[in-house]
Amino acid sequence: MSKIKVKTPLVEMDGDEMTRVIWKEIKDKLIHPYLDIQLEYYDLGVSYRDQTDDKVTVDSANAILKHGVGVKCATITPNADRVKEYTLKKEWPSPNGTIRSILDGTVFRKPIIINNIPAAVKSWKKPIIIGRHAYGDIYRNVEMLIPGPGKAEIVFTPADGGAESRVIIHDYKGSGVVMGMHNLDKSIESFAKSCFNYAISEKVPLWFATKDTISKKYHARFRSIFEQVSKEREADLKSAGIYYAYYLIDDAVAQIMKNEGGMLWALMNYDGDVQSDMVASGFGSLGLMTSVLVSPDGKYEYEAAHGTVTRHYRQYQKGETTSTNSVASIFAWTGALHKRGELDGNTELMKFAEKLEKAVIDTIEAGEMTKDLMSLSTAPSKKQLDTFQFMDAVQKRLNS
Ligand code: NAP
Ligand code: MG
Repeated sequence: MSKIKVKTPLVEMDGDEMTRVIWKEIKDKLIHPYLDIQLEYYDLGVSYRDQTDDKVTVDSANAILKHGVGVKCATITPNADRVKEYTLKKEWPSPNGTIRSILDGTVFRKPIIINNIPAAVKSWKKPIIIGRHAYGDIYRNVEMLIPGPGKAEIVFTPADGGAESRVIIHDYKGSGVVMGMHNLDKSIESFAKSCFNYAISEKVPLWFATKDTISKKYHARFRSIFEQVSKEREADLKSAGIYYAYYLIDDAVAQIMKNEGGMLWALMNYDGDVQSDMVASGFGSLGLMTSVLVSPDGKYEYEAAHGTVTRHYRQYQKGETTSTNSVASIFAWTGALHKRGELDGNTELMKFAEKLEKAVIDTIEAGEMTKDLMSLSTAPSKKQLDTFQFMDAVQKRLNS
C-alpha cells in the first residue's frame, strides 16, 4: 500500500509517563506505516522542559501559530514531588496553561461515542461538547471577611484622571462576606470567537448560557459579545447549517438532561468547571474524552483530556501488564490529521483519519477493549486486552 502524502508539517508535542509509551506505539503502528508526513517534533517530556528552561513549550506553541495544527501528548505539571522525582530546577508551569495563553485559546472537551457504551443519561446519543471560558470571574476574585457594621463599595478610578464611579455593594449591619470579580471584553471576545470557530468547523449548533436576568451588566456583557460575534459569523453559520442560541443557564441545564446532545455548549468559567465534570462522568470513561484547544484566529491543538496515567506507568515500570485506554490519544491524532487535511484540501488524509476512528470504534463495539471499558460496555461477549494488544487489534482492523 502506498503512503498518503501530507505536504504541510504537523506539530507534534511528546509527553510523559504512560501516555508517552502509548504515543510512540500510536506513531509506529497507526501513523507512520500509512502516512508520508513531516512531524515537527517538540519534546514536552518534563526532563526536556527542565533542560530548556521550558523554552521548548513556548517554541511548540509558536510552531502551532505558524503551521495551524498540533497534536499533544499528556504531560506532567510538576509539583514538589515531581521536582524531587525528576530533579527539576523548579516547579515549571503547566504546559497546557502556557500554550493556551500563547494561542489565547479556548479548550473544548468532547466525548467519543461508542454504541455499546451507553451514557449515564439515557437521552444522550451524541457528544455534548463543552467550551469553558478560562479567564476571570471567581478564579481571579478578591474577597474579604466583613467583621462588623460598615459599608462595602465598588470604586472605579479611571486611569486618565476622569471622575471616579462608586456603587454600594452592601451597608452591613453585622458581619458577613464580600467578593469582587472581573472580566475583560478582549478575553470574552476571544472566547466567543473560538466557540464560533469550533462550532462552525464541527458543524454543531452553539449554545451559550448565563444568568443575564439577574446579572444585568456582568452576565449580560457576555451575552451581548456572543451576539455581536454571531452577527459577524452569520454567513458561516448558515453555510455550516447550524444555529447559535442563547439560554438562561438553568434552562440550558434542564434541557441538556433530556436532549440527545450533539451541540457545543459554551459556558462561563465557573459553570464550565462544574458542567464539564458532570458531562464527562455522564459519558463514562476519561479514556474516551478528547480535548481541543482553538484560538480565536483558528489554530488547533488536539489532545486527550486525561493525564499521563501515572498509576499505570508505575506498573509498566515494574514490568507488569497494563490495560491503559489509548482511544483519546488516538483521537487526538485523528482530530489533528483530519483538520490538517481540511486546511490543505487533502481528502485522502481526511478519509484516513475517519478510517482510523472507525477502526477504533469497531474494535470496541466488537467486544475488544481495555479494562476501564469492561464494566461499561454492553457488548454480548467481551475480551479485556492490555495496552499494546488493544492497539494491535486496532491496527489489524485498519488493515482489513
Ligand atoms: P490521570 O493521568 O488522568 O489518571 C487518573 C486516573 O484515571 C488513572 O489512574 C486511571 O484510573 C484513570 N485514567 C485516566 N486516563 C486513563 C486511560 N487512558 N485509560 C485508563 N484509565 C485512565 O490523572 P492524574 O493521575 O491525576 O495525573 C497524572 C499526571 O498527569 C500528573 O502529573 C498531572 O500533572 C498530569 N495531567 C496532565 C494533563 C494534560 O497534560 N492534559 C491533564 C491532567 C493531568 P485507575 O488508576 O483507577 O485505572
Ligand atoms: Mg471541575
